[in-house]
Amino acid sequence: MSNPRTVRAARGLTLSAKGWQQEAALRMFHNNLDPEVAEHPEDLVVYGGTGKAARDWRSFDRITASLRDLEGDETLLVQSGRPVGIMRTHEWAPRVLLANSNLVGDWANWPEFRRLEAEGLTMYGQMTAGSWIYIGTQGILQGTYETFAAVAAKRFGGSLAGTVTLTAGLGGMGGAQPLAVTMNDGVAIVVECDGSRIDRRIEHRYLDVRADSLDEALDLAARARDERRPLSVGVLGNAAEVFPELLSRGAPIDIVTDQTSAHDPLAYLPAGVPFGDWKDLAAAKPEEFTVRARESMAAHVEAMVGFLDAGAEVFDYGNSIRDEAREGGFTRAFDFPGFVPAYIRPLFCEGRGPFRWAALSGDPADIARTDQAVLDLFPDNEHLTRWIRMAQDRVAFQGLPARICWLGQGERAAAGQRFNELVASGEVSAPLAIGRDHLDTGSVASPYRETEGMKDGSDAIADWPLLNALVNTSSGASWVSIHHGGGVGMGRSIHAGQVSVADGTELAAAKLDRVLTNDPAMGVIRHVDAGYEEAERVAGAHGIRVPMKES
Ligand code: NAD
Repeated sequence: MSNPRTVRAARGLTLSAKGWQQEAALRMFHNNLDPEVAEHPEDLVVYGGTGKAARDWRSFDRITASLRDLEGDETLLVQSGRPVGIMRTHEWAPRVLLANSNLVGDWANWPEFRRLEAEGLTMYGQMTAGSWIYIGTQGILQGTYETFAAVAAKRFGGSLAGTVTLTAGLGGMGGAQPLAVTMNDGVAIVVECDGSRIDRRIEHRYLDVRADSLDEALDLAARARDERRPLSVGVLGNAAEVFPELLSRGAPIDIVTDQTSAHDPLAYLPAGVPFGDWKDLAAAKPEEFTVRARESMAAHVEAMVGFLDAGAEVFDYGNSIRDEAREGGFTRAFDFPGFVPAYIRPLFCEGRGPFRWAALSGDPADIARTDQAVLDLFPDNEHLTRWIRMAQDRVAFQGLPARICWLGQGERAAAGQRFNELVASGEVSAPLAIGRDHLDTGSVASPYRETEGMKDGSDAIADWPLLNALVNTSSGASWVSIHHGGGVGMGRSIHAGQVSVADGTELAAAKLDRVLTNDPAMGVIRHVDAGYEEAERVAGAHGIRVPMKES
């Protein structure tokens, strides 16, 4: 039920918990629900359709109280957003263990999930919503920037200048798309059916302008493209109608993708349904709504395939729209690839992925110091340097100041050590929470996304994320989570998260060293096991032991 209260993480050095590890979990939990951060905080929804931080407001209050009361050798257990137990463990154990949205295989579908959710027994945790390390749209920005950079390298001579990208969805994650395109010097037209999301992205400087009509959007885009000037244009409309319309007009589109909440048919607005009726209709007639949403996704994806046939670069950006369109009756939905096999897998083989951290002080100067530390640690990495400089210049913080950058095996541990030193020396004014997305090298099984098209066919093997969570729990992470259904929806993914707090102590230094070595190493060994030679090289270079490769 909606609740009007406003949540914001505490700032500064005064603790309301019994130690920084617990305080960090509390601040990051509250930060997830800061109105600046969360898409619909009144419903505890952080991002990604209905991805929540807590099951209900009573659970929110009990989690808050439990974290404040928690000793440094106790562990809080959270079952799908509800605190269910506090146990005596030890100081190397995580302070919080979370499990979100997990269902036994045969029951792992949306209708059953919704039935259980309506009974008050579970919640949808998405990825970083239910694991308390969402940092706003910046969290996906570098990944999206890297993806569009890979598109530019593959098809357009290394830059998107002079190209037009068509996409949809300006939600919590999708909102990164326009800025990622303009950071690559391209032009983006982004279709969104909720006008308030267009305004929010402009306010947060992710989107440049709003067009009042499709004609105006095309006109603005064509002029910018001809002048090779980066520009992003938001246009109000339903992608299931606008994409086919643009295709039939022969609009000159070079790149096509989508980031509506297609993973959940109730979070995708079908063509013909007025925006104002969306929630009521989805709640009253979920089955009929699902059928209509899938039919619309079929039309949407059919247009994407039409652009593919016309020569555009087309990819699925991790929301499972191809499978939903297939369910909706469109047989060519898988004609275009997912973004991981198309562009990202070589990075995963190096243990590279979305490393992120937040300044628990609330002071942006602390992030500036960590940015400098990253630049000092990796001076030869021009790509990383360009990213940090651009992020400093163009990313507006949402909630607690935070930064993301993709780091690989060895680099994450080095950054973690340096950050802990900065906290110990007082150069950074308070501890830092260091985490990552679940969309990472070794923490996800998701056959339509991170593990699509694995070399050995092991796409649906879900032992890896479970081992990842167990390894992080054994290595000293501050909180660890195991989720089902994030990104691509019920039945389609199992994934794990970890957050580790640099509080400046020697204990934190020892824990960070192990977690930030072992966590990406899970990705390296997962890819070694699947037969990727690059991963084998990385394992060798970093002394990661793989028994099956030892004689
Ligand atoms: P969100 O729910 O915050 O936003 C989705 C947006 O899509 C909303 O603003 C909604 O109004 C809009 N929308 C829905 N139906 C539409 C339609 N028919 N036409 C136009 N707009 C429509 O979700 P989000 O956090 O932005 O995530 C978007 C999707 O991306 C989800 O499926 C999520 O699971 C997935 N995702 C992908 C990645 C990745 O790395 N590629 C990462 C995180 C999430």
